[in-house]
Amino acid sequence: MTDEKRLVIELDHLRKMYGDFVAVEDANFSIANGEFFAILGPSGCGKTTMLKMIAGFEKPTSGRVLLDGEDVSSVPPYRRNVNTVFQQYALFPHMSVFDNVAFGPRSAKKFDDARIKKDVTEILEVVRLGKFAARKPSQLSGGQQQRVALARALVNYPSALLLDEPLAALDLKLREAMQIELKRIQREVGISFIFVTHDQGEAITMSDRIAVMSEGRVEQIGTPEQIYRSPASLFVAGFIGSANLLPATVESNSKQWLHVRTTRGIALKVPVTSASFAVGDKVCVMLRPERLHPAQSIDESGSGLDGILTDLVYQGATARLIVHQTDDTEISALIDANALPSWARPGEKICLVWSDDCPYVLAGWPDHAGATTTSVDHVEASL
Ligand code: ATP
Repeated sequence: MTDEKRLVIELDHLRKMYGDFVAVEDANFSIANGEFFAILGPSGCGKTTMLKMIAGFEKPTSGRVLLDGEDVSSVPPYRRNVNTVFQQYALFPHMSVFDNVAFGPRSAKKFDDARIKKDVTEILEVVRLGKFAARKPSQLSGGQQQRVALARALVNYPSALLLDEPLAALDLKLREAMQIELKRIQREVGISFIFVTHDQGEAITMSDRIAVMSEGRVEQIGTPEQIYRSPASLFVAGFIGSANLLPATVESNSKQWLHVRTTRGIALKVPVTSASFAVGDKVCVMLRPERLHPAQSIDESGSGLDGILTDLVYQGATARLIVHQTDDTEISALIDANALPSWARPGEKICLVWSDDCPYVLAGWPDHAGATTTSVDHVEASL
């Protein structure tokens, strides 16, 4: 096995209950050396509990945690070769940046002063704080303090770094800069980063792979592209990016196409993916807004829906079109603002058309019937 494919963390049917409440249910996946791995999901879905079980701050109700192939389920946190960076960095205010980072290695008494000095100097260069070694935390910006916390966690090169919403305390601009910075640092040190976030844009920007969680369960694990293009469930489709979801019923299927009729009576054809559906199955057709294009008619070979353009929202580089069909179903499209046709005006008739590979079919109907749209624009733009 190459070093890159070496498994650093293995979760073996991990479960955590608080009383009779299941916080994490049957988590069963591995993280390879050097991966940037996000655990993503809404508040309360069990992300932090999962991270705490990896770090050793919570004991699993059942299942095992393996670090570098060794079962550490009953090993205390300080004896596990992982470090955690929390949302609150808790730096020692009276110590310099250098002393904050050197605190761990000095307490461990594993190396002499010369070696500690070399290690701390090196990691401060990696996080680009070499010039600030003598400063106190209060003399640093939020982003610089964040990097001290990172340097402190990385100084002894653990097998993996666990990060619990580490950018949550930063404002949006700094947060975006730190996303790029974190990725660079991770590449440079080459160890696995496991990153907990409820921000899907952040997960997509930074991660090699993402585990999407809902109500204690891992719904899907994959690359950002796999999760965006082929969501495994309605929850994932709605949580990652923006999606038009049209409830429909399967009318016929062939090797290549699934023919469905929406609850509003519109016939659509959808390319067959790996999931198999039978005639009569309740499904949802997912149309990503950025895959829809405005047209004056739906030509015979194409697929599309027509309606009235009710809203046209300029967003700088892009424009969002909101189209109401006759039954009042709302469909949203996101287009390049430069490609906006002059005839597309609010109140006028418009068609939204798509290419054959655009629709994606998912099992089940959402809780409330009718097309639903979730919306986060920067994800669409980044994929
Ligand atoms: P957030 O994004 O809000 O931090 P999360 O996805 O990290 O949420 P967890 O902190 O893992 O969620 O919590 C998962 C569930 O377990 C929540 O419903 C929470 O209330 C519950 N929980 C967490 N810790 C405890 C505890 N010590 N005792 C009882 N319930 C707990």
